Amino acid sequence: MTLEELWRATLGEIEVSVSKAQFNTWFRGTSILSFENGKVIIAVPNGFAKEWLENKYNIIILHALNKNNREIREIACQVVQETPLPQKQNQNIDAVSARSQSTDPSTFSTLKIKQNTQLSTPYTHSFHSSNLNPRYTFSSFIVGENNNLAFAACKAVSEQLGTLYNPLFIYGGVGLGKTHLLQSIGNSVLEKDPSKEVLYTTTEKFTHKLITSIKNNTINTFKANYQKIDLLIIDDVQFLSGREKTQHEFFNIFNTLYQRDKQIVISSDRPPKSISTLEDRLRSRFEGGMIADINKPNFEIRFAILESKAIEKKLSFPEETLRYIAENITHNIRELEGALNRVLAFSQLQNIPPSPELAKKALADIIGSGKKKTITQKDVIQAVCSHYDLTPEELARKGRKKEITHSRHIAMFLLRSELKLSYKGIGRCFGGRDHTTAIHAFEKISSELEKNLTLKEEVNAVREKIYLFE
Ligand code: ADP
Ligand code: MG
Repeated sequence: MTLEELWRATLGEIEVSVSKAQFNTWFRGTSILSFENGKVIIAVPNGFAKEWLENKYNIIILHALNKNNREIREIACQVVQETPLPQKQNQNIDAVSARSQSTDPSTFSTLKIKQNTQLSTPYTHSFHSSNLNPRYTFSSFIVGENNNLAFAACKAVSEQLGTLYNPLFIYGGVGLGKTHLLQSIGNSVLEKDPSKEVLYTTTEKFTHKLITSIKNNTINTFKANYQKIDLLIIDDVQFLSGREKTQHEFFNIFNTLYQRDKQIVISSDRPPKSISTLEDRLRSRFEGGMIADINKPNFEIRFAILESKAIEKKLSFPEETLRYIAENITHNIRELEGALNRVLAFSQLQNIPPSPELAKKALADIIGSGKKKTITQKDVIQAVCSHYDLTPEELARKGRKKEITHSRHIAMFLLRSELKLSYKGIGRCFGGRDHTTAIHAFEKISSELEKNLTLKEEVNAVREKIYLFE
């Protein structure tokens, strides 16, 4: 295996355990510089990425590397200027990190990873790896009124697999802790009984594997493998919508497990009834178990989460700074963590204490309007497409398929409500449709929103995606 192949395989593993956006943000533009005496040196594009890879992802990286090469015991990150900048969010920090580039020994640190049991025996189950990130545990999850139902349900399921709440369906907006809770169940089950077969997978990964197995004529092995599982965790099931063959196979696997009292846990960004293209029989299966939602955290919870993250990272941040972040970053917890890390990076890179003033500076362009700086038409279209699993071409295409028309109406509504785009302009976004179409869409959605709570949740979920900065 060449270094390039090793890294590509490793990234493939990592991709499963982090979100797509996290993956793009932190792992794009990285490579392996060298591998000697069990030590891998990873090239990263800037100090911010180095900070994150070392503090947040070291275990995940090592774990993934180990799957491809058991000799790797240590990793280190090195800032390498030539690597192309991965993403826009870091641009204003690059000026700062550029000062401490690769010749500075302080940017070159080695992470000695303790040889704990987790790493020397990385979840070697007979089926295959559980794909769990050991960081996600019940004990590192802050419980508040916004998530206590979901937390209690997950905890209960982890203690009584298969018979209590089956399936367990957790839903809530982006970055509110669904993946964290789902994986906590898996980690807790394995901690108590390592012989259990646990599998965490994203719906995208599941679909990909399924399609590959259909192509390679190995569908029976695929199904047989799933039937061995005691706990199947499927994240982000909204992406299952519309894929008939996938839904069919999913239903079969679901039924087999269910009939054998094997536990199934599912997450989605919306309740089953709002996944518009879900097959009815799957929807009613999902609804037949326990459904729990996660809502946005209030100030107290945001503050408590920041405090716990600061302790986790052994940071001594003044209370006022944490308060400032908690007051201003309100969308979701992923952003909250991102903000904390950003302040930390500013503070370390400039060698200034993390005062509320520094936090204000570090977060200026995030907080500003409370939202992302400038939202573009493209952001809206992208969010709608990602939510409904469509391509921009499909969204714009003429035709009367009900789901697509609905998605297009939502897009038109959001272009108007979020961007104040003219109706003419909106028509132009969709292959030169007449402005009256846009007016009709806007008015239809506006009036339905007043009486339809499900639609409201749906539009909110899409809106969140527009403003999600990562
Ligand atoms: P989702 O899957 O809902 O998009 P995640 O589970 O990925 O969200 O959560 C985003 C980040 O926020 C993760 O790093 C997670 O650990 C953290 N997080 C979310 N909720 C909590 C909580 N209640 N306590 C501690 N950390 C949390
Ligand atoms: Mg998630």
